[in-house]
Amino acid sequence: PSIDRQPTQTDAMNNFILNTPTKILFGKGQIAKIAKEIPADARILITYGGGSIKQNGVLVQVQTALEGRAVFEFGGIEPNPTYETLMKAVEVVKAEKIDFLLAVGGGSVADGTKFIAAAARYTAATDPWDILLTNGSKVAAAVPMAVVLTLPATGSESNSGAVISRKATGDKLAFFSAHTYPVFAVLDPEVTFSLPPRQIANGVVDAFVHTVEQYLTYPVDAKVQDRFSEGLLLTLIEEGPRALAEPTNYDVRANVMWSATQALNGLIGAGVPQDWTTHMLGHEITAMHGLDHAQTLAIVLPSVLSYKKEQKRAKLLQYAERVWNLRDGSEDARIDGAIAATRAFFEKMGVGTRLSAYGLDGSSIPAMVAKLKEHGMLTLGEHRDITPEDSQRILEAAR
Ligand code: NAP
Ligand code: FE
Repeated sequence: PSIDRQPTQTDAMNNFILNTPTKILFGKGQIAKIAKEIPADARILITYGGGSIKQNGVLVQVQTALEGRAVFEFGGIEPNPTYETLMKAVEVVKAEKIDFLLAVGGGSVADGTKFIAAAARYTAATDPWDILLTNGSKVAAAVPMAVVLTLPATGSESNSGAVISRKATGDKLAFFSAHTYPVFAVLDPEVTFSLPPRQIANGVVDAFVHTVEQYLTYPVDAKVQDRFSEGLLLTLIEEGPRALAEPTNYDVRANVMWSATQALNGLIGAGVPQDWTTHMLGHEITAMHGLDHAQTLAIVLPSVLSYKKEQKRAKLLQYAERVWNLRDGSEDARIDGAIAATRAFFEKMGVGTRLSAYGLDGSSIPAMVAKLKEHGMLTLGEHRDITPEDSQRILEAAR
């Protein structure tokens, strides 16, 4: 698309191929059904994080469901999973001849397990970190993996992507591969009852931002994708605060959980332009300062929307009207109102929307932009016209 296209002009929906192969087992008690989904003779490695699944009984549910099967465990995958930790799991996969990986946890465990799956079958002469440097294009095979999701947020449970950090170098990079779609995903809203408020909020914000990044771009005539996106945004706006207020309300958790999966399983992004600037800048903030993924998104998104207001004008007006019910006043007033409402929603969820809310004064912005350049993020946005200098201004405006 040309950068100087008229904002009122609408292009046709783009061609697309959509394949969402992950089988979803949704609802109460579905963990009990997983044995049937895993080959009977498989040597299974359960992967998990810091131990929340031991406290809330999810690990026991999984172990019970897999009784009599060859099961191994690997715990300790940290939030923003690291290459360093995951390579230890790759050793276990090789030593124990594991042929099925079952991730039990949030996006970090799901993502980390995708990397383990790909790295364990990586035959190139280079180090498996190369999977990240080449966006997954060198992944030719992976150990089959599935997810028992405990934190609705990332959509990782039914997409092919993963974001992996490397402690030694301060990198946080993503890869995608057709070989790393989970075979199945269990979404039991009850297992999310034990989430602390900060993680409930993070999940809602992450799913919201995923939706916005596939929706708030220049318009193509994609009515279904637009209305699905608006449905997800409205649901998250309605149910997000309720999830905080009524943590054991099953219906609320079910709606949040399904929204988060649908926000990033390919459906709403099919055939439409996408703008992942917020995620790319957010990854640099996490890599340098360790903020939660969703915290970084809440900081960056309002700033990106303001910075790209002219290019995104048509869609911002649609967003203002259909999502925030802003119909009166000038175009600019409606657009500014919608961006302010977005910020207020994140704040209402308890997620700060400025670098300063996390004790950062902005002095590290040049260093973060240098990392962004090193990572090849030279042309971001749906028009590929957001340069590192623009990224710097976007971050400056988010102080
Ligand atoms: P997370 O990092 O997986 O988990 C955050 C925290 O929540 C952990 O401390 C975890 O504890 C805890 N937790 C998880 N489930 C819980 C439960 N049911 N009860 C109590 N505590 C629970 O968070 P996330 O937001 O899902 O994942 C973030 C990562 O995903 C980031 O690295 C981000 O970059 C990436 N991401 C991936 C995609 C994608 O498409 N693949 C998209 C967006 C973001 P334990 O460790 O003890 O379990
Ligand atoms: Fe995300």
